[in-house]
Amino acid sequence: MSQHEYFIALLAKGSAVPTLLCGHCNSTLSRAKIFRNEGRNRFDIACQTLGLCSADDCGAVNCCDEAMAEIDSSEPIRKMAS
Ligand SMILES: [Zn+2]
Repeated sequence: MSQHEYFIALLAKGSAVPTLLCGHCNSTLSRAKIFRNEGRNRFDIACQTLGLCSADDCGAVNCCDEAMAEIDSSEPIRKMAS
């Protein structure tokens, strides 16, 4: 059984648009590089949403689950709608 090394993506504080940062080098994770951990993109990681760092010297695999959960829970419109 192989184990992939990965990092936990961070949510950038104080930005108007939710932005995820690489847990390794703190670069911004492009939305195009964030994907569901399923199908042919599947990584052997217990994580639903992954983000690949596009920094040349990094390329780390990031788990975005925690950061995504933080975005959801800090969304004021969603709270008002209920
Ligand atoms: Zn990185």
